[in-house]
Amino acid sequence: MAECAACGGRVEESFRFCPWCAAPQRLKLVEFFRGYAVTDRERGKALRVSRYLGGPERHVRFSVWSGEGVAEAAVSLDENEAGRLRRFLGAPTVARRRASRRAAARRGA
Ligand SMILES: [Zn+2]
Repeated sequence: MAECAACGGRVEESFRFCPWCAAPQRLKLVEFFRGYAVTDRERGKALRVSRYLGGPERHVRFSVWSGEGVAEAAVSLDENEAGRLRRFLGAPTVARRRASRRAAARRGA
């Protein structure tokens, strides 16, 4: 049994809405990302990222979709691993590091 974040009422975990106050229990954000085809087999593929924000099962789910709209693989990350991925993707790229090294060399640093 879960607890509604809006009213504190007890809610079955399978419920999508609170029966007491009607607040959504599974807040989900979905975004599709077009794949970059490195090989011909990857052409048309996409990555779907679903963020489940509500309820006790906060997580991020990644699924790889074929060009025909079929989910071929999926994996979920808990909040800690999703945060680690966010930091990894937000880390400076090699190109930016090289550019800042060149700028530092010009300044004589
Ligand atoms: Zn409620």
